[in-house]
Amino acid sequence: MVATSRPGAVAGAVGESGSLGPARAGVRVEPGSSLYHGLKRKNARQRRLISAFIRHQKQLARPFEQRLLREFNRLGERASVAYLSGAKGVADDERIAGRITREARAHLFNQRVLKPAFQSHYEKVAEDTLTLVNEAMGFGVELADLPMRQILATGGTRAGLVDVAQGTRNAIFRAITAGRARGDGPAAVARSIRELVPAGRYVNAGAQYRARLIAVTETKYAQNVSAMQTYRASGTVTALLAFDAQGAGETDDECVERDGNTYSFDDADVELASEHPGGTLSFAPVVEGVR
Ligand SMILES: [Zn+2]
Repeated sequence: MVATSRPGAVAGAVGESGSLGPARAGVRVEPGSSLYHGLKRKNARQRRLISAFIRHQKQLARPFEQRLLREFNRLGERASVAYLSGAKGVADDERIAGRITREARAHLFNQRVLKPAFQSHYEKVAEDTLTLVNEAMGFGVELADLPMRQILATGGTRAGLVDVAQGTRNAIFRAITAGRARGDGPAAVARSIRELVPAGRYVNAGAQYRARLIAVTETKYAQNVSAMQTYRASGTVTALLAFDAQGAGETDDECVERDGNTYSFDDADVELASEHPGGTLSFAPVVEGVR
C-alpha cells in the first residue's frame, strides 16, 4: 500500500488536463468476500453527515459562482476595452491577442483575483465543515485545532491552477479571426471579445458553466480538506469511509467502485488529490466502537 502523505496536494484541479494523481491505493476487497459487506456498510450517522455536506456544498458554491462569474466578466470587459484602445490596426492576430491578454492583466488574474477569492471561500467552507462534523459526530474540535494556514495555502495553490492566461488569449484570437472572416468592424469584434473571454476554454458551455464548475469543484475540495483536518484533530477517527458517485456530480467507474471502501488517512489524501473536476468524493469518519 502506498503511504504517501500529500499535504496541500493539488492534482485534479479545474484547469488541468487529465489526472496527475498516483495510482489508487485504497483497501481493495472483492465483492462477494466476507469482508466486502462489512466495508461497504455506511451507518446512519455517516450518511447524515455526507448528506449535509452535499446540501451545504450547493449553498456555499452559489455565491462563489456569482463572484467568479463577475470576475470573469470583468476580465472580458478589460480585454474588450484593450482591443478598442489600440491593437485593432495590427495585422498579426497572434500578436494582437498576446498584447490584449497582457493589457487586460490576464496573467495576473490567478494571483490577484482568484487567489484571494479562493482563500476567503476556503476559510468559509472550513468553518462550515467543522461545525457540520462536530454536530454530526459529537466531536469538540475547535477552529484553532485546524491548520488553517495549510487550508488557505491549498486554496491559493488551487487558484493558481485555473487556466486563465491561455484561455483568454485563445478566446481573443478566435474573436478577432472570426470577426475578420465575417467582415465585422471593431465594435463587433470588441463585443465578441467581451462575450468569449469570460468563457475561456468552455467555448460552447459558456462563462456561467465555467464559474459553476470551478465553484462546485472547489467547494467540494475545500470541504474535503477541512473534513480531513477535523477528523485528524479529533484524535478518535481511525479510518475514512468513501462516499462517491452520489448522483449530483460527474462520475465514472472508478468513482462507483471507490464508493463504500475504507481508507487510511494517507490513502484518502491520495484519492482526494487525484479527484476529477465536478466529482462527488467525500469521506465520512470511522470511529472505533461508534455506530
Ligand atoms: Zn468521481
